[in-house]
Amino acid sequence: MKRILTGIKPSGKVQLGNYFGMIKEVVALQDKYEVFLMIADLHAQTVPYQPQELKFWTYELASSLLALGIDPKKTILFRQSDVPAHLYLYWILGCLSYFGELQLMHEFKEQAERYKKQGVGVGIFMYPVLQAADVLIYNADLVPVGQDQVQHLELTRELARRFNKRFGRIFKIPEIYLKEETAKIMSLDDPSKKMSKSLPEGCLEIFAEEKEIRDKIKKAVTDSGQEIKYDPQNKPGISNLMIIYKYLTNKTLVEIEQEFSGLGYGDFKEKIIEAFFDYFRTSREKKKKIKKEKVEKILNQGAKKANKVAEENLKRILKIVGLR
Ligand code: ATP
Ligand code: MG
Repeated sequence: MKRILTGIKPSGKVQLGNYFGMIKEVVALQDKYEVFLMIADLHAQTVPYQPQELKFWTYELASSLLALGIDPKKTILFRQSDVPAHLYLYWILGCLSYFGELQLMHEFKEQAERYKKQGVGVGIFMYPVLQAADVLIYNADLVPVGQDQVQHLELTRELARRFNKRFGRIFKIPEIYLKEETAKIMSLDDPSKKMSKSLPEGCLEIFAEEKEIRDKIKKAVTDSGQEIKYDPQNKPGISNLMIIYKYLTNKTLVEIEQEFSGLGYGDFKEKIIEAFFDYFRTSREKKKKIKKEKVEKILNQGAKKANKVAEENLKRILKIVGLR
């Protein structure tokens, strides 16, 4: 059975981009693949955070994933920090990485800009290497991600090749799994930026209060003109809303254009609100019933399974690099 590894940071509430870019794909793939889904708590430490919040977001995220259809009988859901082998491989791969190539990472450049006053931590610089270790320690075949992670995954592939060439063939070169249309859901308050849970303003959080969701959709930035037409170049706001509506309703873009022909942005937004609640109603109800004790149990079981695979691979790696 082919293996998947992917992850999500406990850095805030799950947003629509996380769902359409990654979670929905994993839910669909968990029947056919062996899935390792990691709550990337070590990655969440790369920017300033509060210890109690990190703990809270970890449980919040795990219960959101379960409510959205991640099935712990099929998917190994675990906390990254529960599997120390990731950090061991991180060091080994770090010694193979070049300063220059890490400096080119878009996310590093963005975060370096954002935190330049406070000082830019080494963690945010090195985090693509840890991400490579996350994938390679399981020898994953496939990594479902959104568009923003493609550059990091290219680095993962490069580090796997470099390692194999230097020490001997141990790693598979993982494939990037990405759905073009949903790989980059844009922010509702600025359609030139991707939606991110750490930027809550333009972010549609799936489990937010009903009023907040309504208000955010109503306030979503639209474009000049009145037509509901798919044109990402000239109408980035409306086109982003059309992609969201398309995947909430399973309609085609042509059907959507026809549905709203002669109608205005306000009518369109009302329909998006309706479609959002129809789509997520069951998950939103399910999440309220998930108890912390259950989440804890699932994460502990996940950690055991993940450790078993990761430790086995680590043994082979330590041997081939000359540490054992
Ligand atoms: P943060 O702001 O803390 O980085 P995030 O919303 O970007 O949070 P991540 O935990 O970094 O979420 O990413 C989890 C997964 O969701 C990754 O596979 C990422 O590519 C995907 N993803 C994140 N944002 C979007 C988006 N706007 N559209 C599609 N996929 C996305
Ligand atoms: Mg992110």
